[in-house]
Amino acid sequence: MTDIDRENKQVSVRRPDGTQCAINYDYLVVCIGAISNDFNTPGARDNCVFLDSANQARLAWHKVSSILRDGVDRTINIVGAGATGVELAAELARVSKKLKRYNASTLSINLIEAAGRVLPNSPEKMSEKVLKELERNGINVFLETRIREVTEAGMETVDNRSLKADLQFWAAGVKAPDWLRDVGGLSYNRMNQIEVKPTLQTTVDDTIFALGDCAAIPQPDGSFVPPKAQAANRAAVHLAKSLSQHLRGKPLTDFVFHDSGMLVAVGHHFAVGTFAPGTKMEGKLVLQGRVIRRLYDTIFRLHQRTVSGVFTVSRLMIAKRLKSVFKPYGI
Ligand SMILES: Cc1cc2nc3c(=O)[nH]c(=O)nc-3n(C[C@H](O)[C@H](O)[C@H](O)COP(=O)(O)OP(=O)(O)OC[C@H]3O[C@@H](n4cnc5c(N)ncnc54)[C@H](O)[C@@H]3O)c2cc1C
Repeated sequence: MTDIDRENKQVSVRRPDGTQCAINYDYLVVCIGAISNDFNTPGARDNCVFLDSANQARLAWHKVSSILRDGVDRTINIVGAGATGVELAAELARVSKKLKRYNASTLSINLIEAAGRVLPNSPEKMSEKVLKELERNGINVFLETRIREVTEAGMETVDNRSLKADLQFWAAGVKAPDWLRDVGGLSYNRMNQIEVKPTLQTTVDDTIFALGDCAAIPQPDGSFVPPKAQAANRAAVHLAKSLSQHLRGKPLTDFVFHDSGMLVAVGHHFAVGTFAPGTKMEGKLVLQGRVIRRLYDTIFRLHQRTVSGVFTVSRLMIAKRLKSVFKPYGI
């Protein structure tokens, strides 16, 4: 999709061969996701690896794999200690440790966060446990540290510190793509997200819906639905039901997101999880350990099954098992 013509109820789309065409709609649902938000930090786009797509993830692994091979000690900067930054840092630390016996490079990992704690959007107890585990894995965590500029050689902080690095990742928050702001005369927030009503209809046009990471969906308590797979999935299921009932003459219903909690993997054998958010137990029920890590794996596979089907998941699981036997960490 490249544009929306609300007057004629058409979306413009660009085909893979570059040609454009228009598709008519009666109702339109926009769910094009989000990209990393670099907050216009100078040099970030050019000198950091982002993890917005499968191709970027493959490029990231290619870069990590090549610096591991050269046998020289290396430093990696990761900006953003949300779930993505934390999991990436822990996994890199684990790979580095595991490959030491093959004379791979030793990785020194800097995890840089502007807020006062890791996982700033989760309960404090969870942040404490995760921080402890990151430090136990030898990761250097820099809290209350804001990046002013990124260069090829490293990062400069607002308080004039230099963090030199050989490879840099940016995983600090999300925004909808910039081009979306010019589309269809809809209403957008600061993160380029389309503003919608609780029914998921855009505030400007009742026949256009938006959900997932590209939508700002208000909740009864004044907050907004967080950019999570769990939330995108539930909003989609909700709209599928609500819109089909609406087509039979019933009113649309409001989407209210009940968060089931959060699990963060810190390495291969450890995860920390919090459950029952929005209840009296919020922040109190924080569990950790190997069993929680296995639960994390199960949820990951269930998510893969939803997206790709049982056959693909079975194939991936068998391939992973075989790979771990024949190739140490696919390197
Ligand atoms: C590295 C990483 C790790 C994450 N880990 C977790 C996690 O552990 N748990 C969790 O809950 N969430 C996680 N998230 C967030 C989660 O992936 C998103 O919240 C979720 O995918 C949002 O779903 P969505 O449908 O809104 O967007 P997406 O899943 O991004 O889907 C949007 C789709 O729209 C397509 N698209 C984009 N632009 C256009 C266009 N112009 N025309 C047509 N198609 C278009 C894209 O190609 C994409 O396929 C992670 C995100 C990242 C980047």
